[in-house]
Amino acid sequence: VLDARGLLVMPGLINAHTHSNQSVQRGAAPNLPLELWIGCVLYGDGPMAADDVYTAAAFQALELLRTGCTAALDHAFLDVGDLPAQAEALMQAYVDVGMRAAVAPVVQDLDYLTTVATGYAIETDAPEPMTSPRDAPTILAALDVFLTTWSGKHELLTPMVGPAAPQRCSDELLAGLADLVRRHGSAMHTHLLESKPQVLATQSRFGRSVVAHLDELGLLGAHASFAHCNWLDEAEYRTLARTGSVVVHNPITGIRCGSGLLPLQDLLDGGPAIALGADGSGASDGQNMFEALKLASLLHTLYGDHRRWPQPERIWRIALSGGAAALRRPLGAIRAGAAADLVLLRADRHAVEDKDYLVRSLVVSETGDSVETVVVGGEIVLRERGSTRVDEAAIRAAAHELMGRRCRQHLARRDVYSAVEPFLASVVDEAAATDLGFSRRAEIELARAADPTGGVTA
Ligand SMILES: [Zn+2]
Repeated sequence: VLDARGLLVMPGLINAHTHSNQSVQRGAAPNLPLELWIGCVLYGDGPMAADDVYTAAAFQALELLRTGCTAALDHAFLDVGDLPAQAEALMQAYVDVGMRAAVAPVVQDLDYLTTVATGYAIETDAPEPMTSPRDAPTILAALDVFLTTWSGKHELLTPMVGPAAPQRCSDELLAGLADLVRRHGSAMHTHLLESKPQVLATQSRFGRSVVAHLDELGLLGAHASFAHCNWLDEAEYRTLARTGSVVVHNPITGIRCGSGLLPLQDLLDGGPAIALGADGSGASDGQNMFEALKLASLLHTLYGDHRRWPQPERIWRIALSGGAAALRRPLGAIRAGAAADLVLLRADRHAVEDKDYLVRSLVVSETGDSVETVVVGGEIVLRERGSTRVDEAAIRAAAHELMGRRCRQHLARRDVYSAVEPFLASVVDEAAATDLGFSRRAEIELARAADPTGGVTA
């Protein structure tokens, strides 16, 4: 029994796409297109040691709880060669903090720099591989053990499979992942058509729509969730809706990396279930789901008839129901049979007289600062904004040390990134010059001065 006088009670928010290892990489990247961002932030960035995996995840889980989020889908960058120890460290962080998590280790058996440029006529020399991916049989064997170990092991934890992106996996690996999903009854989570350059690269690789390819492999369905999905065409969205697949909208990354936004207005009319994600802090610089809610409810006023603008109440509902669908748990609701994942926040910031008014206010005006108490699975894990379970100061200190170490490594890699930057820029330029017949980016025209050279006068 909790004394909730003066407090609101809401279902815990759900972050349906994040990478916990990036919690210590906030602010690492300049504003760059996705292809260059990946090069800048991830090139030469080896896997973390298991105790760093723990620190980054615990630090992030505390940040999520403090801002009203009780469950996350962690598409985690782990060392596949050391998966048992790495997964143990990651899972222990969630259990210690008391947060619910679905964990999908990122896997790929093809190098990023080869797959990013498939089908492009790049004149720059191909750079050295960015990663040293493991082969498909090694990855599949490691994931088989991972799923066997963690399925049903802890009430708070759900293991999943997480290909990095379809184009970064061989067909052997994709088919093997589909087989694992069937055998273990598990779910799959991956990135899908986040940016325009990926449309050309996947069409060249698969000779058809990547969504049709995944459908044929049996990788679509209620067990599948796809991060971003900005550059799908109408037929591809219909295929995701028909198969019951879930789309995870990450509004912050869409503008941080200039990839654009999915056409949410269209998708709300009979489209696939939509969840909401903060994405990794390397691309979003924080894990506040109230920020994601606010941006998702505001950015889609930039196009279309105002009568079709999604309203904040609608964004709230889809974020909760879509998040539950992505994590495949009874989350996002306060009712008998749902998980007891509850957030209590001070009411003084919001008018409580009308439910719609209150929900709108939570979406566009709450920052997470009002969160007082958080309950996960019926247990109080945050009281008066403090963890009831872990030494927060110690985790913060370890995270700060790790942040500094990663920052120094990042600075030391600057020359490596500079060498590869022209290659990645060529991919972005070639894609930008290609007409797909639709766009997912806002094109704001600068007014031209009378100057016949077309320059803009200061
Ligand atoms: Zn991501």
